[in-house]
Amino acid sequence: MTDGIGLGMAGGDDASRPSSGGRDSRSDAHAGRGTAGCDHDAGSHDGTVPSAASAPEASRAWFLIEHPGPWPHPLAGLALPAPLGKAADAAARLGIRVQMIRRPGRPGRRRAAAGAFSVFAGWTAGSRPWLERSVFRHGDLTRPGQLADLDLEGLSLGRRPGFGVPVSGPLVLVCTHGRRNPCCARLGGPLARALAGRHGDQVWETTHVGGDLYAANLVILPHGLYYGPVDSRAAGAAIEAYRRGEVILDRYRGRAGRSASAQAAEHSARRLTGLRGIGDLE
Ligand SMILES: [Zn+2]
Repeated sequence: MTDGIGLGMAGGDDASRPSSGGRDSRSDAHAGRGTAGCDHDAGSHDGTVPSAASAPEASRAWFLIEHPGPWPHPLAGLALPAPLGKAADAAARLGIRVQMIRRPGRPGRRRAAAGAFSVFAGWTAGSRPWLERSVFRHGDLTRPGQLADLDLEGLSLGRRPGFGVPVSGPLVLVCTHGRRNPCCARLGGPLARALAGRHGDQVWETTHVGGDLYAANLVILPHGLYYGPVDSRAAGAAIEAYRRGEVILDRYRGRAGRSASAQAAEHSARRLTGLRGIGDLE
């Protein structure tokens, strides 16, 4: 039995994207669908158009589900096993950012379709963000204490659900949601595969993360740091900085869950002071 899910606006999205990021999000929403390319300005994909202060403002709680795809857009058309679909739908209604994820490349899709799959719950705000992972088996989603009992309301407020094992990260998401916009697959797909070659199991492809005009987009959890547009070199530098506990300003879109003005202020303060520690401006 499967349930469709209503995830069109999970966790806030481009609607809250600030004007300081460049082009209006309305052009983003109607761009290039169904074509081989996109109708974004080339400058939005090569860094000419500034992307600072464009991370989604409302995304603080996260719910990630390993799913092989194909991923429709909007995700409302996606069928999930009933308990998972119910949880995803309820999470989206609570403002939790729901993302489908899979390992890069074809083997990742096969893996997600068979045997076990991972589900993550996370919180990206504040000085102590966290991420938990639980592994489920297809056909075994109804055990007591599992999905049906997951405290989504608590998750939406930042409370750990005791859902699985803690994951320290970095967990790296690359948007490859080609049905949302072809540029995400064209630019994100090769990037995800390249990063997986260097960072292995920490790298996942994902559905729309917001701001596809800045593809390829990278999100680093548990802190919710957004970078875009990034190529393999810039993404690698961002991941290495994260491992040092730092951000780099090159292609840094901001931290999810903060207002656009707070993201802009962070950018300016870092530029002025040279402070790069993730928690330096808490
Ligand atoms: Zn594009």
